[in-house]
Amino acid sequence: MGTASCIPPCPDGGPPVSGRLKRRAPETAAALKEAGGYAVIISGDPCYGACDLATDALDLADVLIHFGHAPVDSRPGVIYEYVRFDFDPEIAENAIALLDPAQPVGLVTTVQHAHLTDAVAAVLEGHGFTVVVGDGNARTPCRGQVLGCSYATARAAGTSQFLYIGTGVFHAIGVGLATGGARVVALDPYTGVVEEADASRLLRRRFAQIEKAREAETVGGIILSTKTGQRREELARHLASLSPVADIICMQEVSPDSLLNLGYACYVNTACPRLAYDDQVRFPVPVLSPPEYEIVRGGIRDWDDYIIDEI
Ligand code: SF4
Repeated sequence: MGTASCIPPCPDGGPPVSGRLKRRAPETAAALKEAGGYAVIISGDPCYGACDLATDALDLADVLIHFGHAPVDSRPGVIYEYVRFDFDPEIAENAIALLDPAQPVGLVTTVQHAHLTDAVAAVLEGHGFTVVVGDGNARTPCRGQVLGCSYATARAAGTSQFLYIGTGVFHAIGVGLATGGARVVALDPYTGVVEEADASRLLRRRFAQIEKAREAETVGGIILSTKTGQRREELARHLASLSPVADIICMQEVSPDSLLNLGYACYVNTACPRLAYDDQVRFPVPVLSPPEYEIVRGGIRDWDDYIIDEI
């Protein structure tokens, strides 16, 4: 286990930042104006990740300061300002009863907690566990960091069990699917609740959507995001080439209304993978991931080779 963290330490060792970051826009702008006399323009658009940079605001300014996410690619003129969300590392003790002490534990988390990875590892090691934290890469630069669209650090850890620290179970389920079925224990660092991630419900829902798509007359709309870190043009073109009736549809925001208006009986999503997994219930027709589309097309992928979509 290394010791380096990609999160710069808080310069004053001060308290963690919490609460909705957008609500802190007025005080952040005031601080920048007071400290450096900067002219500040705030992006009022929603932002879902470092994949979703406010390029319109950048057109109006010399630099864009993007708060709360690690970079998913390199962009000139963008400063990524990490935001730490602290918790008590000792809370990892809640997960011990669900972990197998005879097997190494891979440790994964989201970027806002990545600065505490070593502290959590130390707690587990104090109880005799061997802890492995996978190295970061271009899309998830922090050690042990996972995104809803990238689990490369989990695969780098190479363990058969993981402790995921974060809220919700989507990332934990993703780690299990992306690592070929590793056991994943999810620990909510704020409530201390632990549970073993179970992919079966998600898989049942996705199987149902695949079957629905098979029944659709056309799987015609290949969604191509225009967001900076979600734009998978090559993949969209490849998927479109699999069917003579498929069209590429470029979109900034993928919404139920826009899909309904376009009128295709089924879509394939190359934008944020979570749209298909998390938001299907909002969409009027099946929205497949690219690997799911390969299953529908036949002869490319079988259901037994189901994989989670990653960017
Ligand atoms: S593509 Fe989706 S999961 Fe990936 S960083 Fe963006 S919002 Fe998060």
